[in-house]
Amino acid sequence: MLFRSIVLQGRRWLLLTDSPRRYRHRKYVSQLFQNLQKIPPQDSQLHCKSHKLMIYNDIIQNCHPGGFHLLPLGQRVLDKLIKVIDEELDTIGAQKICMPTLALASLWKKTDRWDSAGAELFRLKDRHKQDYCLGPTHEELVTDLISKMGNNLSYKKLPVRLYQISRKFRDEMHPRHGLLRSREFEMKDLYTFDTTEENAKKTYEEVCQVYENIFNRLGLQFKKVIGATGNIGGKLSHEFLLQSDIGEDTIIVCNSCQYGRNIEVEDPSVRENKCPSCGSELDKMSAIEVGHSFLLGTKYSEILGSTYKDKNGQNIVTQMGCYGLGVTRILQAGIEVLSEDEAIRWPKIISPYQICIIPQMKGYMEEKFMELANNLYDELVTVPNLRGEVVIDNRTRFTVGNRLTQANRLGYPYVVVIGKSAIDEEPKFELQDIYNKTTDFLSSSQIISKLSNIKTAGQ
Ligand SMILES: [Zn+2]
Repeated sequence: MLFRSIVLQGRRWLLLTDSPRRYRHRKYVSQLFQNLQKIPPQDSQLHCKSHKLMIYNDIIQNCHPGGFHLLPLGQRVLDKLIKVIDEELDTIGAQKICMPTLALASLWKKTDRWDSAGAELFRLKDRHKQDYCLGPTHEELVTDLISKMGNNLSYKKLPVRLYQISRKFRDEMHPRHGLLRSREFEMKDLYTFDTTEENAKKTYEEVCQVYENIFNRLGLQFKKVIGATGNIGGKLSHEFLLQSDIGEDTIIVCNSCQYGRNIEVEDPSVRENKCPSCGSELDKMSAIEVGHSFLLGTKYSEILGSTYKDKNGQNIVTQMGCYGLGVTRILQAGIEVLSEDEAIRWPKIISPYQICIIPQMKGYMEEKFMELANNLYDELVTVPNLRGEVVIDNRTRFTVGNRLTQANRLGYPYVVVIGKSAIDEEPKFELQDIYNKTTDFLSSSQIISKLSNIKTAGQ
């Protein structure tokens, strides 16, 4: 019986009572597009822990050099990461847009970057023999966009803060370490337009603060250092990095204060390896760059004619900033710095699922254990922060221990085992906190109240 009809205030209503659709939408591990039975990769090309873990656990799959498929769990994590970034950028009034991937060469030639970008730029021609590139970054396009507002951009609208999260391209000579140095990657690029240099600096500080908030929410310990301006240019630049032996950047940081710089940046005030701010010893370390900020001044706005109208109706050149976050790079770098050798540890709030329910192995009272698992699932997903965060490992041909090992390897933060004590007179479920390595035997309502407090993306 799916519908029940009732009469209320003289009208007949059809009530949906027991929709089978709800059950079809339960997430079962047996249906996930992944192969948990494969042997660990022996590929000698896999030099780093995160790359191995992502291949082994079907987070990504190789396609061609520097090109990867993101499989369903990887895509879920990426979507959550984007959600966190969107939420934090929203707090400073940044507006999301989407620019074309193809960028016209003539714009890149105006800023001289068509030549200076060298072999890393993917170039192509259309049928009319027009030159284009696959955008690795979009200063030209966004500045051209602002210039098209022409005389209509009033000082009252500024600051304008526009960003996109999209696929970027770089023809790497040696793609390696999976998503850390690939030829296509997801990047968040934000471009800001202010009236004065002073206001552009305020924007710069606000964006850097947002970056700190993002890394803090992800539980990633970052280093913020003075960065090189490179091919992008500008007056001031900071890099955000995660310390890791496989990182391709070398940074020098002070242990006592905030001072730090990329080794590419000269600092004449450094003497005998002492911090120029506080005099403490400086530390040198390898790190993975995950974010970069640039105060650009008028480098692009002057050439491409991006202006605003001031109080007196004069056209004034805008002061720009640009800010990148390597989104797929954060995804993998997060795994690299948090994981154990044999088990993924995600930035917890973006874990593909928060909870994995494992019912007893098949045999004795098999249907009862599965029913308990389904019921717990249905209750958990009604809690707002757990909606879509639960999966049932229904492969009951495997022992609980076997499935626990795999759940641990995949890094689900919480596992609920529905074992023999679940059919006691006072039923208890085994809640394992995987990251803190603790186990509790709790009733279903205790489990729900405990898990309703965990932070998930968007909470
Ligand atoms: Zn210092």
